[in-house]
Amino acid sequence: MTEWTFAALMADPAVRARWVRVRRYFFLRESTYDMTRRCNIRCEGCYYFEGDKQHAAEVGDPEAWRALMRAERERGITYVVLAGAEPSLVPDLLQVCHEEMPLGAIASNGIKQIPRSVGYRIHVSVWGNDETSARIRGATHMLARQIDNYRGDARAVYVYTFTPHNIDEAGEVAEILAREDCRLTFNVFSAPVGYTGGLRHTPESLARTRQAMGELLARYPDHVLFSPYNTVAHTHRLGLHDLFGCSYPRRNPSTDLGLGRSFRQYRTDLQWDRDAACCVPDTDCPDCRHYAAGSAVVTARLFRHATDPDTFASWLDYVDTYLAVWVLDYTKGRNLCERMTAPPGFGLE
Ligand code: SF4
Ligand code: SF4
Repeated sequence: MTEWTFAALMADPAVRARWVRVRRYFFLRESTYDMTRRCNIRCEGCYYFEGDKQHAAEVGDPEAWRALMRAERERGITYVVLAGAEPSLVPDLLQVCHEEMPLGAIASNGIKQIPRSVGYRIHVSVWGNDETSARIRGATHMLARQIDNYRGDARAVYVYTFTPHNIDEAGEVAEILAREDCRLTFNVFSAPVGYTGGLRHTPESLARTRQAMGELLARYPDHVLFSPYNTVAHTHRLGLHDLFGCSYPRRNPSTDLGLGRSFRQYRTDLQWDRDAACCVPDTDCPDCRHYAAGSAVVTARLFRHATDPDTFASWLDYVDTYLAVWVLDYTKGRNLCERMTAPPGFGLE
């Protein structure tokens, strides 16, 4: 078997150009923040309302958040993920965070518009067509309301979460979003710890999800922010931790390097707990295929992917997708590897 050096992997000008482009963002150091424990809807399988974080007191004083953001900057954090329950309910806090920390993303259900002055990426969650959303999220006309709120707004990326029951609806949702010139990406439902409901994926539903993702990526290449390698990584029978080794503190006891050292997940009382810290706390690790987790877990594994041209190009596609989804103003390039590549050390499924 040929052993590829890094220099040899860089011989392709397109690969080299992509490497140079994505490398500029290696300074990003993220942490995540629960902005409020309130939400204007209640979805089945929501991981926020699992565990004890939902019971933390809520600090609503913008100056307390300003002080936290300044302290975060001091310890080297350069990117914030503001999440929930529902951050759009506390626009003053979002504004303060943006004033202190210019790069970040907000995870929102999209029902209430976030003021334009908050210049973060906004991830608008979509769990199926409007009938399905009405049933499992308890909200009517959800997609139409989300699109109305964010029409022509470059901050918005729609995140379609595949469950075993909405795979066949993804086509109609993607068609509507593409027609409205909205960008979308894909997530895979990852069960909270102890979850016994019907949204947990099976090998069969993962295979169907993989096929649907591939078809939509091919049909809407200008609107779907994804790659064949994203598809493999998030629909493999093994979860992200088993495939790549999760580096978030909850799964990584090392405090020496990278995420294990810097990442914190703050609750609404501005406290954090190292043993629970990851971007999707209270998610069941063996079932974790969450897009937010993959962004850090796969992206961190550069050396493991520097083995051959297809594997390395696939990893670059993954990083390129991650940046396009998370960083406002970063535009996705064309995928360098159009075929599905297996994660290093594993098969395709
Ligand atoms: S919108 Fe988000 S925070 Fe609110 S219940 Fe649904 S999943 Fe949970
Ligand atoms: S839930 Fe996912 S991101 Fe969080 S610690 Fe487990 S594997 Fe890592």
